[in-house]
Amino acid sequence: MKKPRIVILGAGYGGMMTTVNLQKMLGTNEANITLVNKHDYHYQTTWLHENSAGTLHHDRTRIPIKDVVDFNKVDFVQDTVVSIKADEKKVQLENGELEYDYLVVALGFEPATFGIKGLEENAFMITNINSARLIRDHIEYNFARYNNENEERPELLTIVVGGAGFTGIEFVGELANRVEELCREYDIDRDQVRLINVEAGPTALAGFDPELVEYAMNRLEAKGVEFKLGTMIKECTEEGIIVEKDGEQEEIKSKNVIWAAGVRGNSIVEKSGFEVNRGRVPVRDDLRAPNDDDVFIIGDCALVFNKETERPYPPTAQIAIQMAETTAANLKALVRGSHELESFEPDIKGTVASLGEDDAIGVVFNGKKLYGWRAVFMKKIIDNRYLFKLGGLGLVLKKGKF
Ligand code: FAD
Ligand code: NAD
Repeated sequence: MKKPRIVILGAGYGGMMTTVNLQKMLGTNEANITLVNKHDYHYQTTWLHENSAGTLHHDRTRIPIKDVVDFNKVDFVQDTVVSIKADEKKVQLENGELEYDYLVVALGFEPATFGIKGLEENAFMITNINSARLIRDHIEYNFARYNNENEERPELLTIVVGGAGFTGIEFVGELANRVEELCREYDIDRDQVRLINVEAGPTALAGFDPELVEYAMNRLEAKGVEFKLGTMIKECTEEGIIVEKDGEQEEIKSKNVIWAAGVRGNSIVEKSGFEVNRGRVPVRDDLRAPNDDDVFIIGDCALVFNKETERPYPPTAQIAIQMAETTAANLKALVRGSHELESFEPDIKGTVASLGEDDAIGVVFNGKKLYGWRAVFMKKIIDNRYLFKLGGLGLVLKKGKF
């Protein structure tokens, strides 16, 4: 009998964990598994704010795919997905085409720019290893330029981060530490640097525990972060940003604008004809696409609702990893001829956010609040636990945080 072809698109949290689980669950005589990814490495998106700030080298964040995927059991194709032709059961790549019997779409997120003028052209965005390296080098270059200019150019030392969601807050936390190092390196007085976090809503980290939000803001302000709350970014230009607060517009001049104000699912999914809501596909309970029994959509490309609150779960690595477990189990069932598939039940263990490497906040185990070193420690446990699931103790020792 012909072996079913399983094709997995994207080697992020969702795609890697599906692959690693399947290579353990299925024999090589049961299915042909193919993993497709743009790069020959997997990266931990959850560490990209550190790489972008320059507080952690990007080689700590990326892991060669060959180090965790068994190429005797899985075909790896390094290529870029262009589109999914679900009616033909084919995937168009930049350099070829793949046919599948079962498809797993795990292509991750893109920044959501909400049509704001000039953002795409003038702002930096934390999306992958390449963009993180660029942000790190760009900021450092502007610090290096400062004392080489013949006139005062404070915009070189003004860093603007758009959005005070978890990404924006974690990023300014890293930057606050990094700015101290850059000032020492380039003989710059810390008072000349502005690190501004602009948030449209009335508070940072909307919906998170207010006491922890206050702790985070106080700690970050003490490290020199200026918060501009209730302030919406309206436009980004070559000179900086235009913001609006209470109907009044203001220009903030900056050569370092980083947009971290929201994400959507990879646009390839929408362009391929799947019905989306904010770029994410509202999947069935078993994580299959609404009208396609052979396509699983997981991670940041999928939209799953919390049945109690009727609100969507936020796109997180935690959920992407859990979705991968359900997807691998369901693929195993389908390959072995069963049609009884598991329903996906997220098991949210909490949320922990870093405020630089030396501080953090979190809520874990049904409401226990953590801050300071306890939260830092918990974040390391979460990160190392993922590495253990992916590649065992060896990977934890190689890439873990201690
Ligand atoms: P990703 O992990 O983003 O992987 C997508 C993969 O697809 C990538 O390898 C990419 O290279 C590949 N790809 C994309 N397009 C193509 C293409 N066209 N062709 C081929 N390959 C392609 N969540 C948490 O739970 N905890 C955290 O602490 C946390 N911190 C975060 C910090 C930051 C800075 C950011 C940006 C996000 C954070 N998140 C966190 C959210 C989390 O990172 C995402 O929810 C998670 O990465 C989603 O996993 P995924 O598998 O869907 O996509
Ligand atoms: P988000 O949507 O959570 O936050 C974006 C923020 O930007 C919001 O507060 C929004 O009000 C603000 N914003 C939007 N438009 C704006 C504008 N024009 N001007 C100013 N502010 C504007 O997005 P995110 O922070 O990128 O997070 C994406 C996902 O990743 C979320 O699900 C988040 O939970 C997850 N994440 C988790 C962690 C963690 O668990 N430690 C860390 C990072 C990200």
